[in-house]
This record gives sequence, C-alpha cells and structure tokens, in this order.
Amino acid sequence: MKVDVVVIGAGVQGCAVALRLAQAGSSVVVLERSIPGAEASSAAGGILSPGVEALDPGPFYELCAASLARWEAFAEEVQRLSGLWVGLRGGGTLEVALDDEVARVLAGRAEKLAKGGIPVEVLDGDAARRLEPALSGKTRGALYFPAESSVDPRLLGRALYIAASRAGARFLTGQVGRIAAAGGRAAGVDHESGHIASRAVVLAAGSWSLQVEGHGLPPGSVRPVRGQMAVLDTRPPALSRVIFSEKWYVVPRADGRILCGSTMEEVGFEKAVTAGGLQHVLGLACEIAPRLAAAPFVECWSNFRPATPDGNPILGPGTLPGLFYATGHYRNGILLTPVSADAVAAIVLGRAPPVDLTPFSPARLGAGRGAKG
Ligand SMILES: Cc1cc2nc3c(=O)[nH]c(=O)nc-3n(C[C@H](O)[C@H](O)[C@H](O)COP(=O)(O)OP(=O)(O)OC[C@H]3O[C@@H](n4cnc5c(N)ncnc54)[C@H](O)[C@@H]3O)c2cc1C
Repeated sequence: MKVDVVVIGAGVQGCAVALRLAQAGSSVVVLERSIPGAEASSAAGGILSPGVEALDPGPFYELCAASLARWEAFAEEVQRLSGLWVGLRGGGTLEVALDDEVARVLAGRAEKLAKGGIPVEVLDGDAARRLEPALSGKTRGALYFPAESSVDPRLLGRALYIAASRAGARFLTGQVGRIAAAGGRAAGVDHESGHIASRAVVLAAGSWSLQVEGHGLPPGSVRPVRGQMAVLDTRPPALSRVIFSEKWYVVPRADGRILCGSTMEEVGFEKAVTAGGLQHVLGLACEIAPRLAAAPFVECWSNFRPATPDGNPILGPGTLPGLFYATGHYRNGILLTPVSADAVAAIVLGRAPPVDLTPFSPARLGAGRGAKG
C-alpha cells in the first residue's frame, strides 16, 4: 500500500491531523494498535483553560489561546461532519482559593496575567459563591476566566474519528514497530502485519511515542505521567463550570456528572486506580464543594499524559525530512487539538502554519536519533 501520509496513533491528535490532511486532499492512513481514542484522549477532563494551565504569558500561553479561540468553530465543524455532539460548554473557569495565603498568590498571578493582556477577573469569596453556590464556605477568593470552557473528550474522540473517516482518512488496526526511511527521508512505517509506504509520517502516539523505532526524538523527550479520575453523579447538577483549586479540579458535565481529577504520578506505564489516588481526588473535590460528599460514586479510571521535559508539546518537523510530530501535549492535548491539527497539517502539506511552531520544535529538547535509510 502507498499513501501520502501515515499517522501513527488515533487519539485526538492523530484523528484531528488526519481530518485536516484528508480535507486537503491527501490520502491518509491512521494506524492505531487499540481502538481510536482508547488512551489519554478518553481519560481527559476536557478542560479548555489557558488561564490556569499556562502560568505565564509567552509562547505556550499564545498557543493555548489560539486553540481556545478556534474551539467553537471546531466543535461546530466536527459536529456537522460526524453528526455527534462533542459537549462544548462555556461558562468560564474558576480557580478558587480556600485560604488567605492562596488568595494572595492568586491575586499576584492575576496582576501578572492582566499585564500580559490575559482576560481574568479577581473575585472575593461571596462573588465566587454567587457564580457557584455549591462552593465551600471556606472560599476566600477566586480568579475567573470568563472566556474558557470544557468539552467531553469521549464524545470528541468518537466524533473526530467519524469526521476523519468521512473526510476520507482510512483507519487500520495495527501496532507500528518502526518508522522506515529511504533516501534520507521518512518513507513509511512497518507495522505488525506489513509495510505501508508514504511520503510523510506523523507521529501522534502520545505517551508511547518513544517506543516507535526511528522516532527521531531525544531520549526522555516524552514520558507518561499518570492521572487518576473519579466521577460522581449529582442531580440536579451541583456545579455549572470547571473549578480548579491549585492543580486539582472538578469538571461538571451537562447531565450532572462531576469529574474529579487528577493525580500527577511518575509511575511509568502502570495503569491503575489506587486507594490513595481516589482518596486524594475525592477529598479535594469535597473540599472545593462539600456537598459532593453526598453524591453517588459512578466510575473511575487512570491514563497517561504525554509529558515533555518543559511541559510544552512537540509539533512540526524534526531532523528527518518527511517525519512530523504531533505529540507531547501533556495536560492540554484536548485544549490544543484544533491548533495542533491545523499547524501540523499545514507543515506536512508544505504550507505556512497558522502559528509559529519554533518554540515547539523537537530541536529545543536536544539531538534525536532518526530512522536510518
Ligand atoms: C487524567 C487525565 C486528565 C486530562 N485532562 C485534560 C484536560 O482537562 N484538558 C486537556 O486539554 N487535556 C487533558 N489531558 C491530556 C490529554 O488527554 C492528552 O494530552 C491528549 O489526549 C493526548 O492526545 P494524543 O492523541 O496525543 O494521545 P493518546 O490519546 O494517548 O493517543 C495516542 C494513541 O496512539 C496509539 N499508539 C501508541 N503507540 C502506537 C503504535 N506503536 N502503533 C499504533 N498505535 C499506537 C495509542 O493506542 C493511543 O490510542 C488529560 C490527561 C489525563 C490522563
């Protein structure tokens, strides 16, 4: 088989870049060893929050903001193409302080963000509780990011897969062992049941990116960081927007489910939900909104954020011509899906990307080992 582009991995990153490439007329095969969306992409909270996640103004914040700005149109497009709702909900994000010390830290951060032109409001405890009456009486203050939103990543993953398929991308089941090279450039992939020749390869294998031979990335450039998540049921819905308390959060869905997340654990690829992890995420959720203690428990899971040494994604070309990256999205792969897909697809097609990808080049992480050929 010979195609224009092989995409390795069918998480949200692989599906979205395949959608853009297929829409541009390329023949695209997406190789997924499991089922599309099986890993990090279906485990995520779906928070779209540049304000909380990108601590300082700078290239990463700019990338996050560029993606947030695309989200509404992106959701509408994917919904139209797939016929599925992706659960995009506005209402902003609240980052709450449960004591005076954290309230002071947040106020200082707000000043820095506001100087960088980032839209944020500082609320006192009463104003925060007027927005979210279930918030703890201990709430001393909050930052409010009014333009932010959330999406349901499980719905998104399914919708993106259908949209990309309908646009012409072919999805095959198979574990890619190696990126093949010939004549000094990427020339396809070897997977468990054969070889697919291509003019370009996009590595979108998330936390497993360094397990693909010939990946061309520096050692240690992508590693798994486990996150555990627990889900509660509230009727009527107890909360209406995403609420952070430091790096912990609760994410309400429209139907009253509340996702409580998430741990940050360096345990390799050990996919487990632990007693300590659940105690932590549920305990913090109940601190944010004490009435959650009475909510029925629904389910829990864990999966791996593809983390990079500086926390920023790896996007665009590396040293081997024809090999491109859409990986290392760490805590923000759902937020970054629209802009990553547009930018990586543009580079693969030889067009100018809509955002400067230099800060996200693998070159910033050191020298890699490309496929030979
Ligand atoms: C608990 C948790 C909460 C999160 N919350 C948020 C959030 O609120 N907001 C946000 O923006 N982000 C969040 N994230 C991060 C987000 O989920 C990830 O950044 C994003 O899903 C990465 O997408 P991906 O497509 O790169 O990876 P994945 O979804 O992991 O997809 C990679 C795919 O590649 C496949 N694959 C791997 N190796 C091979 C191979 N050799 N051959 C074939 N297929 C292969 C895998 O099976 C997998 O399906 C969260 C993550 C976790 C774990």
